[in-house]
Amino acid sequence: MTAGDACLFVGGFLLEPFGFARYSYNKDQSKVAPRLSNRPYGLNIKLNGVKMLSRIYIKEVPEHVGEQVLLKGFVHALRIQGSVSFLILRDVTGTIQNVIVKSNAETFAYVKTLSLESTVEIVGLAKKDPTREGRYEVEVETIKALAMSEPELPIAVNEKNEVEAATDIRHQYRFLDLRKPKNMLIMKLSSAFDRYYREYLFNQGFVEVHTPKTMPTPSESSSDLFEVKYFDRPAYLAQSPQLYKQMAIAAGLEKVLEVGPIFRAEKSFTSRHATECTSYDVEMAFIKDHNDIMELEENLIVYILTKIKENYGDEIKAIYGLDVNVPSLPFPRITMAEAKKLLGSTDYESDLTSEEEKALGEYFEKQGQDFVFLTDFPISVRPFYHKYYTDKPCTKSADLIYRGLEITTLAQREERYDVLVEQLKAKGLGTKDIQWYLDFFRYGMPPHGGWGLGGARFIMKLLGIEHIRDAMFIYRGVNNLNP
Ligand code: ATP
Ligand code: MG
Repeated sequence: MTAGDACLFVGGFLLEPFGFARYSYNKDQSKVAPRLSNRPYGLNIKLNGVKMLSRIYIKEVPEHVGEQVLLKGFVHALRIQGSVSFLILRDVTGTIQNVIVKSNAETFAYVKTLSLESTVEIVGLAKKDPTREGRYEVEVETIKALAMSEPELPIAVNEKNEVEAATDIRHQYRFLDLRKPKNMLIMKLSSAFDRYYREYLFNQGFVEVHTPKTMPTPSESSSDLFEVKYFDRPAYLAQSPQLYKQMAIAAGLEKVLEVGPIFRAEKSFTSRHATECTSYDVEMAFIKDHNDIMELEENLIVYILTKIKENYGDEIKAIYGLDVNVPSLPFPRITMAEAKKLLGSTDYESDLTSEEEKALGEYFEKQGQDFVFLTDFPISVRPFYHKYYTDKPCTKSADLIYRGLEITTLAQREERYDVLVEQLKAKGLGTKDIQWYLDFFRYGMPPHGGWGLGGARFIMKLLGIEHIRDAMFIYRGVNNLNP
């Protein structure tokens, strides 16, 4: 390959208007001249007599050995040597070594001018790596920079031989932080979770609703509420789609799901709370009791983990060194009273502390169980709309604990108007502000129940991530409103 010897790209395609003759260009693309090629063109498509080389992803390179390929991505690493240089290219599917030999004089000189993380297009010959079994490389013909990175990166993307940057700097430059393959995998898994969650429930006949995120009254408690100015009156950001999901049941939709944001003005600086996160909700009508909801959720989780293992198991193993564990059915269930006894606590009126939750998780993990349903919560720690038992002061509800962390609260709801109002009043609450919600129950309501599941907490536990901020695209916390 000679000086300026690169292919002309138009809109990501390499044009070859003269059959095997290829256009070449100087770096500024000012001069273009055809040249002859003796390479096979596996990806060339003839369109109106014009041959085009379309971009392939790095993971597709093994299917194109012996062909000329066009790759696009970020400069992950550069190793400049006397007679040969190496450029590790990264795209959304992985990384690959690109070899630039000295005899390819212009490209060999050009690669020295590139900075890490610049975006580039590379054309070259796809080959098996002769020195590493099962690996592939590209013998580079041309490289073209699309956008150069500033030479000093605020955080290292390629962390080989580098100490990870401080957390606040990483999150300030979250777009760079996310370029790291381990973080990119988190984003792919979050999206996979979305997809499999919906897939399973749609297959069960669920309908997705999108409930409003501004509300006239709080959806859960009056603490942890974000108040916003709504023209000349206050409104509140939805802490949960709870009340509107129940409206969908009153509307006769029977099986509804929602994947959407919830807002919690949590002033606690914990590793499991964000002020804004994605909630995965379900509400289902004509259930027998909360056991139906637990059954639906455990089956859903087995489905999601099976799919994740199938499609991402190898990547998770390669990057995190973890095997995806698909739990067996049914998940163990333990009542709050039993759990308290197990943990040596006599305080039956309060929720589990996060330490108790952890200890309970460890107890079940020792028995090979990642998940456990903690059931029959005391009325004192549950909202008025849960269904109460008639023979004990508990609600027909449960939390799902995954490796020691609550990821879901679920319950059967009270469907009888009079009982609901009674329960509301018994909690010291008035009906005035919430009458619009109570109206849902006045004209016939199916027995129903559902859950709210924190997706980021699920991903945290799946990959052993310490803090929720690292399991989300962009974290919102008390002191985190940027970027
Ligand atoms: P916790 O007791 O851990 O604060 P919660 O009981 O207040 O949680 P729920 O109202 O039951 O939370 O919400 C249902 C699910 O939504 C939780 O089990 C959790 O997975 C998720 N979730 C709730 N609040 C947050 C938050 N601030 N950050 C991340 N996830 C949350
Ligand atoms: Mg809860």
